[in-house]
Formats: sequence, structure tokens, C-alpha cells
Amino acid sequence: MAKKVHIPIQLIIEHGAIQKLPETQVFNWVEGKKVALVSGRGSTRKVTERIESVIADHVAESKFLCCENNTLDTINELEREVLEDTPDIIIGVGGGKALDVSKVVGTRSNVPVILFPTAISSDAICSPVAVIKMLNKSTSIGVKMPQAVIIDLDILSSCPPRLMSAGIGDLLSNKTALFDWKLAHYAKKEEMNTFAGLMANNAVESFMNTLNHPDVDRSEMIKVASESLIMSGIAMSIAGSSRPCSGSEHLISHALDYHCGGKALHGEQVAIGVLVAQYLQGQRSKVESLLPYYEKLGLPTHYEDLGYTREEMHRAIRMAPTMRDRYTILNEFELTDEFIDHILDEVYPIEAKNRYRLIGSSVG
Ligand SMILES: [Zn+2]
Repeated sequence: MAKKVHIPIQLIIEHGAIQKLPETQVFNWVEGKKVALVSGRGSTRKVTERIESVIADHVAESKFLCCENNTLDTINELEREVLEDTPDIIIGVGGGKALDVSKVVGTRSNVPVILFPTAISSDAICSPVAVIKMLNKSTSIGVKMPQAVIIDLDILSSCPPRLMSAGIGDLLSNKTALFDWKLAHYAKKEEMNTFAGLMANNAVESFMNTLNHPDVDRSEMIKVASESLIMSGIAMSIAGSSRPCSGSEHLISHALDYHCGGKALHGEQVAIGVLVAQYLQGQRSKVESLLPYYEKLGLPTHYEDLGYTREEMHRAIRMAPTMRDRYTILNEFELTDEFIDHILDEVYPIEAKNRYRLIGSSVG
């Protein structure tokens, strides 16, 4: 029996994509329709106004909805506004929260969603998962895939480097996540979807190959990173869970969010978690071989650079296996205080500190 997989009908990644909208099938979808545009207040609102100006003369009605954060209160409020006069399409514009909130509101109100990512800070730009805040804690929930994802590379080129680093951190985690998934499969804890695994692996491999190319420039890197993050999202849709892109490194990031105040961006925390995951997966040499990439990509190599103390990082590793019922490399070790201390000493040497600068944190 064949499996039904949800993927976006349209995927547009090019320079000047907003301006070229009238030449696409997406334009036909909005023609004569009621459209709700969801974004934050700052620079993403300006992008939203540009999108609206391109479609304004052709839609029946357009309204702007403001998404200040990804809390349940904001989602409920936006859903109420949407249901008052239900649009035919929701357009989500932003770097993270506005995209997640658009997906949740679209799923709950049964309205198709088009996403315009203005930054690539995680694989949420095209995934069946959204992160929302409930009772001050971040939680991932399942949502419908967007009907289209449109990335204007001219807008992404001004994406703050910190957000870009976070997106790449989230992408690199596919490697450790796939190792964990195989481990769970061999331990007879979980079925593995080979096709989803292949896709998630190819996503990260194609990015690494581009990076290894001597002539690669920032613009090409952004393009390939966007494509790879989208492929990761589709791998999750095929798997029916975040498994191909989320393993022990994500559990560590979730524990940092849940037990240590969530001080940094998702992808930054995941990048820190990848180093522990690779170490435990017996790939110490790979940790060392990853470090030059981290340096080249401007990724954090020490938890203190993200504002966490040793005690907090210790707690996050200890609590990580309890974050989800998901078998990973963390289940293969007895995480005693002494062993976690040993991990911290090995994975985060003093010389790994102060290579990363926390500047600019808004993902609107
Ligand atoms: Zn992630």
C-alpha cells in the first residue's frame, strides 16, 4: 500500500521572488480571494507590505494580522480574528515564530498556508511541526504542511548572521538524529523510514558539499541551506514525525529550553547538542572534524557562549532523555554526575569558549 505524503505544491527559491509572484501559480490561488497576512511588527511587516502591494489589486480583500510571539494566547487571539471573517489563504511572513503561528492557525481553522521565510533560522520554514509556548515552556506540535513556500533570496541575503548560523545548526543535526534513529531501529524500539532517512541525509550532505567547494560565496550558501532545510522538512513529512531531523541533540536543546530558561535560539542550542551527541555516538574524530566547519559557519562551540553555566548544561544533559519518549544514544549510557562532568570536559574544552558572539536575537 502506498503512503500519502504531504509536501508543498509550490516551492519557489529565487532572487526577486516577491516581484515575480504574478508569474506563478500561487498568484492564481490568491486572485479574487480573501487573504490574511501574518507577521511581526518590525522589518518582517515591511516585507509583508511589499507582498501585499504586489497582490493588492487582484485579491478580493487583504488584512494584516500581527503576531507578537508564539504563545498560546497569541495563537488563540489570531485564530479568533481569522474565524471572524475566514480568509481563503493565510500568508505567514517571518523568520520563525510568525511561520509557526501561521501553520498552527491555518491547521486549526482549516485554511491553507503560504510561507514567506525572511530568515532561515530552523527547518520550521517547511515542516509539519510548529514550536509554540505554553505555560512559558516551548512545545512542538504537529501541523499541516504549508501549501507553498516562497523564499526571496534578496531578502534572505540581509538575514542576520546569527539566524543563519542557527538554521545551519538545525541542519547539521540531521547526522546525529539519523544515527539515533538507526540505533532505535536496531534496538527494536522504532520503525525506520529509509526514504525519509535518505532525504534528511542528502539534505545535510549537499550543504556540506557546497561548503567544501573552494569558490562558494555567501549567496550560494544561503540558497543551498534554504533548499536543504526544506528537504529536511519534507523528510519529516514523509516520516510522519520529526525523527529524521531530531535526535539526542534536540533533546538536549529541549532540556535547555525547559529546565534552563531557553536563553538562545533553537538551532544554536542544537549545534551545541550535536557536539555531545557525536561524542557519545563514538565519533570523537568527527567532533574534531566538525569544529573547522563550526568555525567557518560561525556556529557556537561552547555552551557558555550561549549564556549557560556549566551547572545548567550538566542539568540539560541529565534531563535530556526525559524530554520525549524517544530512544537515542543517551539511553545507552548511565548518565551519572561523574560521567556528565567527563562529557563536559571532553566536548567543551576551555579553548572552545569565546568564539561566538551573541548579537541580535529577534526571530520575528
Ligand atoms: Zn530543529
